[in-house]
Amino acid sequence: MSSAPFSRARLEELLKKRFFYAPAFSIYGGVAGLYDYGPPGCALQANMLALWRSHFVLEENMLELDTTILTPHDVLKASGHVDRFTDFMVNDSKTGDFYRADHILEDRLEKRLKEAPEAEKKEIERILSQLDDYKEVQLQALMERFQVRSDLGNELTPVIPFNLMFGASIGPKGQIRGYLRPETAQGQFTNFKRLLECNYERMPFASAQIGKSFRNEISPRAGLLRVREFTMAEIEHYVHPEKKNHPRFSEVAHLVLPFLPSSLQMEGISKTLEMTIGEAVEKKVVDNETLGYFLGRTAMYLWKIGVNGDRLRFRQHLPNEMSHYASDCWDAEIQSSYGWVECVGCADRSAYDLTMHTQWTKEKLVVRERLPEPKIMQVKRLEVSKKDIGMAYKKDAKAIVDMLERLTLCEAEDLMAKTDSEGNTAVSVDGIESLVKLTPAMAKIVESVETVHVNEYTPNVIEPSFGIGRIMYSLLEHVFWTREGDEQRCVLSLPAAIAPLKVLVAPLSNHDDFTPFCRELVTLFRKLDLNCQVDDSSATIGRRYARSDEVGVPFAVTVDFQTVKDRTVTLRERDSTAQVRLSLDDVATTIASIVRGEREWTNIVEKHGLFVQQALN
Ligand code: AMP
Repeated sequence: MSSAPFSRARLEELLKKRFFYAPAFSIYGGVAGLYDYGPPGCALQANMLALWRSHFVLEENMLELDTTILTPHDVLKASGHVDRFTDFMVNDSKTGDFYRADHILEDRLEKRLKEAPEAEKKEIERILSQLDDYKEVQLQALMERFQVRSDLGNELTPVIPFNLMFGASIGPKGQIRGYLRPETAQGQFTNFKRLLECNYERMPFASAQIGKSFRNEISPRAGLLRVREFTMAEIEHYVHPEKKNHPRFSEVAHLVLPFLPSSLQMEGISKTLEMTIGEAVEKKVVDNETLGYFLGRTAMYLWKIGVNGDRLRFRQHLPNEMSHYASDCWDAEIQSSYGWVECVGCADRSAYDLTMHTQWTKEKLVVRERLPEPKIMQVKRLEVSKKDIGMAYKKDAKAIVDMLERLTLCEAEDLMAKTDSEGNTAVSVDGIESLVKLTPAMAKIVESVETVHVNEYTPNVIEPSFGIGRIMYSLLEHVFWTREGDEQRCVLSLPAAIAPLKVLVAPLSNHDDFTPFCRELVTLFRKLDLNCQVDDSSATIGRRYARSDEVGVPFAVTVDFQTVKDRTVTLRERDSTAQVRLSLDDVATTIASIVRGEREWTNIVEKHGLFVQQALN
């Protein structure tokens, strides 16, 4: 392997040259944050997703969905995205250029850190480690304190929240307001009832979805790391709120992961704690077994596709950083030349989404479990009289009733607790200007004793959410290197399972005698779903190997004069450039067994011995 330092410019040149991905619509000037994947990028993504599907979906019988991207306004209003899915933005007061407030602040503070006196350094480091925790007011105060200016040195406008969703008008007159989904989760939640039925009403279970999501990032940058359209792979695992243990937890409990809990970050510490997942859950560093289980499975997936374990960590969200729906959240962050970047978010979304959709639609997204024996219980509920409200409020009555029926029992109790001396409650209702006065006849909390046969609860949701483009780019940095002594010979050491092409077929020359053997090899490879490419160009065999190393092809099979005599071929492995000689009839099954993870290259060398005669690199 090379000892040359990593060069992002070299990698980017390679990715561009071999068309892994490229700016979309570039012949029209392009749009920031939109990328097209070319053949190797597309195949790499497909292989990463196939492995994701087998590692998560098949492994745990998850219920996979394909729900729509276009999402009506009400769904995202209920989920909180319309009001709270925001980043903070500032503008150059002269040119109007946009900046994400936390990003420009981070940039300026990192620059300042280099020259700051010791005492200030500590303070800046503390601010930097908590940057994700700051909201509008704190960001504004810091902008003023450090006199942050635009790239051109101009003053910046005040910090304002900016909603990241792309609006969409549905229907010929655009009469239905909607958005392009910012995550694949909501389509899963809104189908919860059907999913539970598909699972024969058994809990716990998970649904999963792979698909595109859209976010109108303020200033997309860093290639695939911050884009406006990207592929996500998301799991929603539904559990009983008080039973967050996981039946397969013991399978991951022994794994040691690097954790960066929020308590350490608040102290300005960025060194991780290495501990087993079992210990992390026991010590309540990680809230529960199910969350711990998915952190473990996530690490296993990332290791499997070739992410360097030393450059992976699990960082807990700071209290304010947590999304509006989350009760605990850990990000799998991967280190690249851009620093530590969140590539997978693992959030405990509690009962938030299902509760909100239930309140909005009155469709109960709950689990009903028959009790072993009926229970006599004191039951409370909000009793709403449509008749009394209707008589008093006429055309506004529907809005009032809808609002009341959406309340949870807790919310209703809070509301009803604020009565005046006559027992009336004043409430504000969306769309009605003045306060609505509710008399006890219109709405009251009633209690009754009932025989209950079923236990009804809203499940909590643990959500691992993978951004495939971010993982892909970080991975490409990890597997990229150049051959010792030859900076021009780049290699992508992608694991065979996800490499875009599995094998190169290279006849030693374009001699006619080799052609039937090449054809036969291609047929054998295709039969086993091994994506192969024949390179019978006139380039030297070494040049052809180098070209296939660049796109991470793990194996090359060479047909030569010996093949014509005895049907043997050479099989070359990309990273070591070592070769073995074996029968043409065995080569496809040999490669397939490595791709499937049943054997390793060392087993092949043990079996056939190294072939040194024609080691042409
Ligand atoms: P979030 O819902 O914000 O936790 O995002 C889930 C995952 O989506 C993240 O871990 C990222 O991998 C990915 N992601 C989020 N925003 C972007 C973006 N603008 N560009 C690329 N990937 C993203």
